[in-house]
Amino acid sequence: MIQILIVEDEKPISNLIRLSLKKAGYACCCAYDGAEAADILESRRFDLILLDIMLPEIDGFSLMEYIRPMEIPVIFLTARNSVADRVKGLDMGAEDYIVKPFEIMELLARVNVVLRRYHKTDTELRIGGLVIDTQAMLVYRDGEAIPLTPKEYELLLLFARNPGIALYRETIYERIWNEDFPYGSKTVDLHVQRLRKKIGWEDLLHAVPKVGYRLEAER
Ligand code: CA
Repeated sequence: MIQILIVEDEKPISNLIRLSLKKAGYACCCAYDGAEAADILESRRFDLILLDIMLPEIDGFSLMEYIRPMEIPVIFLTARNSVADRVKGLDMGAEDYIVKPFEIMELLARVNVVLRRYHKTDTELRIGGLVIDTQAMLVYRDGEAIPLTPKEYELLLLFARNPGIALYRETIYERIWNEDFPYGSKTVDLHVQRLRKKIGWEDLLHAVPKVGYRLEAER
């Protein structure tokens, strides 16, 4: 599932964006100031960030400098409609710039354009002998559909989108279960074991000692 971070201190706007993106099928996370956003970015990966410029304490431009090396596309949100800000935002590497107030349809259209540009909307992923149809949410091996539970499917997508990367148990748990990792929890391990068996990834999905799991496969 595509994960979007919304960094916006005005709660009504943040809520409106979150609900609209959720309806459009995106997973969202909200941060209400720059420091909170930086904290969230340390432990979770995102496909896109919607970033307000006027934020308490750390502003959007400063946060952009922190985000830039992560190579996550950013769309700035701002009430300030000055040419200087617009140029500065784009100069800093933002993909787009939306002036508040905006129509939610416009926001969705721009989000889709940026995700397409970053090939984040692939409807078909081929990896490790599987074909994953991300629109139908179906997984095939040799043309046969493999039945997966919703959590197994999300887990598979997480690995398929991060091949070669060691993913921490905590990160996996927080991304799939959307809550803090309960200390010592074996939930992730249990799900990975079941998934591995179902999709035949016994030789591809490896445990990484003291970390979590890594998928050894190329797309
Ligand atoms: Ca603001």
